[in-house]
Parts: sequence; structure tokens; C-alpha cells
Amino acid sequence: MKVAIALFPMLPLAAVLLVASPVAAPLEIGAGERLLVIAPHPDDETLGAGGLVQRVLARGGSARVVILTAGDGYPDAVARETGNREPRPADFVAYGRRRMGEARAAVRELGGGRVHLQFLGFPDGGLAPLLHAHWRRSHPERSATTGASDPPYPEVVEPNVAYDGDDLLREIAEILRDTAPTVIALPDPADAHPDHSATGLFALLALEAQSRAPASHGPPLPRIFLYLVHWRAWPEGFTSPTPPGPDTPLELPEGLPEPGLPRVALLLSDFERGAKAAALARHGSQQEIMGSFLRAFVRRTEPFRVLATPALDQIAIAVERSLGLAQALHRAAEAPRADDVGALGASSRRDLPAPPGRPQSRLLGARGADSPVLQ
Ligand SMILES: [Zn+2]
Repeated sequence: MKVAIALFPMLPLAAVLLVASPVAAPLEIGAGERLLVIAPHPDDETLGAGGLVQRVLARGGSARVVILTAGDGYPDAVARETGNREPRPADFVAYGRRRMGEARAAVRELGGGRVHLQFLGFPDGGLAPLLHAHWRRSHPERSATTGASDPPYPEVVEPNVAYDGDDLLREIAEILRDTAPTVIALPDPADAHPDHSATGLFALLALEAQSRAPASHGPPLPRIFLYLVHWRAWPEGFTSPTPPGPDTPLELPEGLPEPGLPRVALLLSDFERGAKAAALARHGSQQEIMGSFLRAFVRRTEPFRVLATPALDQIAIAVERSLGLAQALHRAAEAPRADDVGALGASSRRDLPAPPGRPQSRLLGARGADSPVLQ
């Protein structure tokens, strides 16, 4: 997991990006944009881009939200909800259903039925291992909470996939082709939560693959906005008895990797900010356990970093390095016993599996030979 976190700082993006001002520039949204929001868990769509969704719709555009997991990997919350200190897999699936329902209610607050919301049903808490240790369908990950190796929710976009990186990347790539977004919001790969950083990387891999398609075979790349949810002691003051008020702009923290990435901020109207608060209120399960954290995102501005298209090449190289590291780790480790692999409750950190297969995307296939070894 740490590989994914460390990945983004390795990117030599400064070489390909314009020098950025630390001050966030105003984010302007034109008419008729097609927005795609990619989120790891129910509530991230609103925390990261609840204002952006509303603004795009208000300008006559469309909004599609794709949530990769059902948020079903939260043992403490499920224990609290069920009163059982060791909840059963079915309890986690029930919790996932509750959270998906909360997200549906939340996007209705944002768009009144105009937001196209979909779930992929991948394992909450298990997205980073898909990138590094469970790439192939023949070696899927098993959720430590639901016990599933494929989505246990029939309503997801593709219920007949396995929990593997190749399937997840393919699904995101198909969604990209189908949506042809002009604007995409995805987790900042620097986010401290492994699910968030991995979601950002999967989305960027799909975008990078799209960028290599001949122009005649696909739409141009969208504008890419990165949103942050988890970073140490951020949003500033959210644990304080007197946190910053809702009129205060929300500013991204200092010290993020790749400080040269341009920063932008969407200035929210009172109405937009109110709807964002109403949407977050719909995430009742999360309000119960982290209400002050959620409220810290209801502010005058919604901040993003901007990723320029040339940086996608650097991301491809970095992911290749990361996969190379996973393979090297495996070679250095004992091969796991067959009955260890995927055992319920086995975390991917000690479940060193067979070497991850090479992703079938052109992106990595084209770069295998000349990728530098990870330092
Ligand atoms: Zn999240």
C-alpha cells in the first residue's frame, strides 16, 4: 500500500508543468460540460466535488458519478451498528447497501435526479492491492470484510467481474469512452488514504491509455481536476471546538507532493454550499462517526489541483516502476501457501501473492523495456 502513497511524489512533474502560483486561481465552468466524478467511497463524491457537480448542471452540462466501492470495509462502524464486535460478512454487505443508498440520496440533493450515479462494487480498503498484488482475474483479491472476491451487489455496473486490477482498469476505461467527459474529477494520488491514491492512479492510467489512442478514435482528453480528502490534520481545525466557519475558503494544505501543480478553487454560492451540506447530511452512517470531518468540507470554496495532460506520461512510468517493485518484493519473499492466498481476513500486506501480471493495457506494454528501476 505504501507503494501507491509513495508513487506520486516520485513523479518529476515539475519538469513538464508550468510553474504554479500557490494561490488558487478561480475555477470557471463553461456551458454544456460533461463531468465525470470518480470516487473511492460513498461520500467522497460530495466531499470532493459536490459543488462542481452542481455548477456543471447549472451551466447546462451533465454529471456522472462513479463510486468504486460500496464503503463496506469499515469494521468499527459495522460493529457499532450491529452491536456485534465481530460482524459477519453479511453485515458488511448490508452496511454497503446502506451506504450506496445514502449516496443515491446525496446526489439527488446535488442534482435533483440529473446525476447519473453508478457503483462498481470493488472492495473497500482493498483498492491499492489491486494495483500491486492482484492484477489478474485468475488471482483476485478477497475482501477482508465481505469475504467476496467479486461484487456482492447485483446493481453494480458489471457484477460479473473479479476483484483484480485489470478488470477495474477496463471498467474505468469503458466508462471514460462512454462518457467522453470534458471535465473529470478524481482523487489526488497524493491523498493519504490508500483507496483514494489508488483510485486516482487507476483513473489516470485509464486516461493515459486514452491519450495514446489516435485522435480519430476517441474524444480529446478532459480537463483533469484532483480533489483531496485525507491529509494529516486537514481540513485545518476540523477537530477544534471552534473550527473555521463555512464562509472561510477551504484551502489545500501546504506540503503536498508535487507543489508545482496548479491550484484552482470553485467559489460556491450560498445555494450550492447549502446543497453540499444537505448532500453530506444524507450520508447518515458517516455523520454518526465523523460528522465534524464532513462539515469541514462545507466551505466557501471547493479546491482542486490541476493535472496537465503531459504529466500523464510521467504517471505511466511511475506506475510501471511501482509494479516492478511489487514483483521484486515477491521474488524476495517466500511464495505463499495456496491456502493462505485470499483467505478471509488476510490483508493484502501479508498476502504476498503470485507476481502481479502485467496489465494488458497498451500503456504498460509499450513501456516495459525502458522503465527505470525503482530506487
Ligand atoms: Zn473515501
